[in-house]
Amino acid sequence: EDLLVEEAARARERSRHKSEFLAVMSHEIRTPMNGIIGAAGLLMDRELDPGDAGYVRIIHESGEHLLQLINDILDFSRLDASRIELEQVPFALHDTIESAVGLIGPTARAKGLSLSVSVTDDVPQRVVGDPGRLRQILFNLVGNAIKFTKRGSVRVEASCIEQSAAGIRIALAVTDTGIGIPPEALPKLFHEFSQVDGSISRQFGGSGLGLAICRRLVERMGGTITVASTPGEGSTFRFDVLLKHAAPDMAADPSAPARSASRRLRILLAEDNGTNRLVVSRMLERMGHRVDLAEDG
Ligand code: ADP
Repeated sequence: EDLLVEEAARARERSRHKSEFLAVMSHEIRTPMNGIIGAAGLLMDRELDPGDAGYVRIIHESGEHLLQLINDILDFSRLDASRIELEQVPFALHDTIESAVGLIGPTARAKGLSLSVSVTDDVPQRVVGDPGRLRQILFNLVGNAIKFTKRGSVRVEASCIEQSAAGIRIALAVTDTGIGIPPEALPKLFHEFSQVDGSISRQFGGSGLGLAICRRLVERMGGTITVASTPGEGSTFRFDVLLKHAAPDMAADPSAPARSASRRLRILLAEDNGTNRLVVSRMLERMGHRVDLAEDG
């Protein structure tokens, strides 16, 4: 028995080391990825002959795709190693839900799908929690709904389950009229690297990590995620999260971007990676800012 306990502890330790290794590696991989995507983005704004423009677009799109995969792996391994701290900041809940869905609006429109959001009046506007992670969960679920729906609609609904001293429990549902999921695939859906149909996933792309990340994030927010689906008719993903009350004097989302994007600034850029220094300073200069460079803080 003692040996078993010891072995189990060692296995857990090994698994934690592996997740940590992945988290560190993924971070290292993102630096050159930023160089590739950034430089390709700068080239795309130049007058290129149509053939070259096509190649540059391929580099840019492939880079974006690879970066998305790397971000998923990074997120997943950090969640697995419990290295992600959720934020506790005041934010505007209605706006966060609408902006997350709005980001994917163009993709839905391009496929001819109707995309709607409804938030009931009992959902408070100002709450405390992690708006970025909430956006990420919604973005993932709505992205999947659009990905696996050929015609019809994708609907997002939010309502309040309860308000108590402990906080505000919000229920969210994403419903689509897509291909649906066969019953035998449902139990494994929220496990990592799970894809229902390899051929469909190859057609649509994806890491099979999205839902595993969603489940972990939802659980970290004190909720659960479930799915109900009928093949050929569609799916509904439901989850709930526990948010905190915002104190009356709390300012709105401090992480919201400043709206003075058109102001010309003088910017000190401290970055040790030479490629990133070049790419970022070109981008900032093109926005009309003046940039001073330093290699470190
Ligand atoms: P991926 O990045 O491969 O989409 P996910 O974890 O987000 O990974 O999804 C896992 C699998 O679950 C998908 O490959 C797909 O087979 C299935 N799936 C997820 N959402 C839907 C949906 N709305 N309708 C049908 N199938 C879905």
